[in-house]
Amino acid sequence: MTPRQVVRSRCEKALWLLLIVLALFIALALIKPAPPAGWIGGVLFLVFAGAATYANWVIDCPKCQVPFGQMVWQVSFPSIGLMPIKVCPHCALDLDSEWPLRRD
Ligand SMILES: [Zn+2]
Repeated sequence: MTPRQVVRSRCEKALWLLLIVLALFIALALIKPAPPAGWIGGVLFLVFAGAATYANWVIDCPKCQVPFGQMVWQVSFPSIGLMPIKVCPHCALDLDSEWPLRRD
């Protein structure tokens, strides 16, 4: 498993939660269009904010454990960025190398 795969698996969990909450937001808006949507909207907002905070501030490099910040999306999904990130910007760990590092 590569460091990128480790980061991506954590990022995908947050992304699925974001997409599910977004879908629920849209469904709630269609069912009950007049704001405020009540406590359900508040709970959905907290879950959405929590998942976004987790993705942007908690997911870290497996080696140096410094969070990637907003770069986590480019690290996890290099094909969506204009400049794909190949190494950790903090410790220069090759994100596509074998992880954990083997010492022969
Ligand atoms: Zn690092």
